[in-house]
This record gives sequence, structure tokens and C-alpha cells, in this order.
Amino acid sequence: MILNLEKLKAGRSEFWRSYARHELDLENVPDFEVIGDIDSHVIAVKNRTNIKLTIELNYRLKLVCSRCLEEFTREFSEKTTYYLKAGKEDIVEEKPLADEDIFTMYYATEELDLKPLMREMIILSVPMKPLCKPDCKGLCPVCGVNWNYETCEHMGQAKPIDSRWQKLIEISSKLK
Ligand SMILES: [Zn+2]
Ligand SMILES: [Zn+2]
Repeated sequence: MILNLEKLKAGRSEFWRSYARHELDLENVPDFEVIGDIDSHVIAVKNRTNIKLTIELNYRLKLVCSRCLEEFTREFSEKTTYYLKAGKEDIVEEKPLADEDIFTMYYATEELDLKPLMREMIILSVPMKPLCKPDCKGLCPVCGVNWNYETCEHMGQAKPIDSRWQKLIEISSKLK
């Protein structure tokens, strides 16, 4: 949605809208797939030229587990607050304040397209190492069976290698 910052009435305004993934340009992104619509709830509180903008998004993503490589879907609920201030700079200055999900932006334009902000929120919410469940047992590094469903004779001998540790193992073996 496009928020007209000039015409926005003083005080609190709320907007609800659902987006199809292509509307947020999330059709062909690597690493995840948006399932269904993205529900947004936008709260704008205007005080003179300062606007506190809160964007809440609810959506489902299909991800690939980094340990067992199976696809899974998860519900996400994200909330980010932006402080908009009238200024000469265009919306380039993003200064994270104490809280990492709060940004201050300067606007020189009348209209602010919220879609790129929403797109970024979704992309940033995707975990670096998604897990289908916190205790996913992963794949056997020897024979490749999925230890969540099956057992094999290597259980107890070999531990699934988390790729985060792989680099450390390589480094420590070089040091020897
Ligand atoms: Zn898994
Ligand atoms: Zn095995």
C-alpha cells in the first residue's frame, strides 16, 4: 500500500490488507516460498510531521530444514516500527536505535510505498539455518537416512554434522 504522509490525518490510523506474494515481489526468491496471502496490519500515529509507523505481518513460509533437508511450513508473525521524520534526505537514513526492530527514516516525499518495507521484513525473518523442529535429528552422515524417522547402525557412532561446525572442524584439522 502507498501511505500518503501529507494527507494522513493527525492521530492514529489503522489499515488492514492482504497481499498475494507477487505483490510484494516474493515470487522467485531463493531459500523460501510464501504460502498463501500475507496479512498486514499497519498502524500510523501522526504528530505534526512525525509519524510512528508500525507494520505487523502474518504469513506462512515453506522452508527447507538445514539438518534433514525436508520441506516444512511455519507461521510467522513479525512486527517492526519505523519513526518517520520530515527531512531533506530521501528515505535512505536507516538508523537502528536501541531496539533492533526500530528504524528512523527521513522522508522528503509525500508518499511512502510500504510494500518494499514489508518485503524486507519477510526476507529478514527467514532464519539462516531453518530447522523443521528444534530437536531435528538430521541425516546420518554415513548412510544418509533421516534419523527423525529411521534408525541405522551408525547411530551413536557418528553425530550429524551441523554445517556451522563444519568450518571449525576443517580449521582444527588443519592446525594438527
Ligand atoms: Zn529437520
Ligand atoms: Zn547410517
